[in-house]
Amino acid sequence: MAEGITAKKEKDFSEWYTQLLEKAELVDLRYNIKGFVPYREWAQISIEKMFRMMSDELDKTGHLPICLPTLIPEKNFKLESEHVKGFAPEVFWVTEYGNGEKLEEKYALRPTSETAFYQMYSYWIRSHKDLPYKRYQRANIFRAEGKMTRPFLRAREFHWIEAHNAFATKEDAEAQVKEDILMTNNTLLNKFAIPHIFFERPQWDKFAGAEKTFAADALMGSGKVLQLPSTHLIGQKFSKVFNVKFIDKDGSDKYCHITCYGPAISRIYGAMICMHGDDKGLKLPFDLAPLQIVIVPVQLEKERTKLLKKAGEIKKELEKNYIVKIDDREDYSPGWKYNYYELKGVPIRIEIGPRDLEKKAVVIARRDLNLKESVNEKDVVNYVNKIAKEYTGNLIKQASVNFEGNIADVKTAEDMKKALQEQKIIRVPFCSIEMDGAKCAESIEKYYMAQVRGIRADKKEKTSGNCVMCGKKAKEVVYIARSY
Ligand SMILES: [Zn+2]
Repeated sequence: MAEGITAKKEKDFSEWYTQLLEKAELVDLRYNIKGFVPYREWAQISIEKMFRMMSDELDKTGHLPICLPTLIPEKNFKLESEHVKGFAPEVFWVTEYGNGEKLEEKYALRPTSETAFYQMYSYWIRSHKDLPYKRYQRANIFRAEGKMTRPFLRAREFHWIEAHNAFATKEDAEAQVKEDILMTNNTLLNKFAIPHIFFERPQWDKFAGAEKTFAADALMGSGKVLQLPSTHLIGQKFSKVFNVKFIDKDGSDKYCHITCYGPAISRIYGAMICMHGDDKGLKLPFDLAPLQIVIVPVQLEKERTKLLKKAGEIKKELEKNYIVKIDDREDYSPGWKYNYYELKGVPIRIEIGPRDLEKKAVVIARRDLNLKESVNEKDVVNYVNKIAKEYTGNLIKQASVNFEGNIADVKTAEDMKKALQEQKIIRVPFCSIEMDGAKCAESIEKYYMAQVRGIRADKKEKTSGNCVMCGKKAKEVVYIARSY
């Protein structure tokens, strides 16, 4: 038997996740810098596909790719005071080279690249005809996380895409935020099978230097949420300090309105495997699986030639559309192989034994529903096509039920406490997401160890009643949850 996961996801999520990472060979935890983790083939193949899907979305919406340096001079950072204050505690600095020779100034290993992009935008953007100016890069970024790190979910190096867009007007910038939310839905939900809610974050929890921050939260195990892509209305603050200006139609100089969007692909990958994995191992959306179909001939010692011939015929048909492999290794039992491919999250397994040959049938097992069925030889292609078509949809359905069922409406602090203990996300009336609500949020953090995630960005929810903490008339309906 392949060594399966011994921890139960429901009972000990943390141990389950660690075993999943190691046993499915996604990462190697032996690399010797805290928070820096080598990704192995099985993870990286899916991650590459995710990058392509995300880039396709950006390309389709008029973004062009560029690539900026990894190092950012300290003086760029210092230009925007909130930004430097927000990021300073997490920046890795490069200060020397060679045999301890000091560099003439400090360089940051980019924790995000606003201060590199906008410096260049001040050279590249000239006229209203250049706008909108939409660019993105694929990059690794570095943050000296103080909290406990966890591969993919919270690491000191992560792999992302960042898009930085400049516009002539505030309205154009706001429209971009809507486009970012839509792009997130097209990828995060439809391709990566992660149901989420997009929130406008409270003012005390926005990106350092932004006017407004919007972020997608997904529900993970143990009732905790994880922040996935976020998009920010940066406004004109950065364009003023970096001098990102354009000459408008009337001949006057104006500062650009800026937005930025940051899907952290490595983190999304982590969220995806947490969300869909089960006690047997990984479950991956069909198009992201490194291997989609494995064919396992059973009892190779007896009818080896015949079985392999049949397996070869089936593979030839299926590989026209899918990634298919035959596992004909003799030193592993069929049972070991079944467990192994379930652990690896291969969506479809086809078993062929001597008795199946006689019956002109095969057995097809599917990982989305953990079911198997005997299928007539001539129906194999149609049957596989059907599974392929509905597979990712099934993962979305399973995860959605989980999300919706975990939101609790509460009106009092007492009920909130109870719901949080039951690992729910809470929807409550709240005084305000402007700075005057910060005190109530602090109390919630202090007494309940939960965070105000914000108000929904996709729809306006009507509120009535009073703030669950201070009792003032509520202006908003907010969601509160514990988070990673
Ligand atoms: Zn309040």
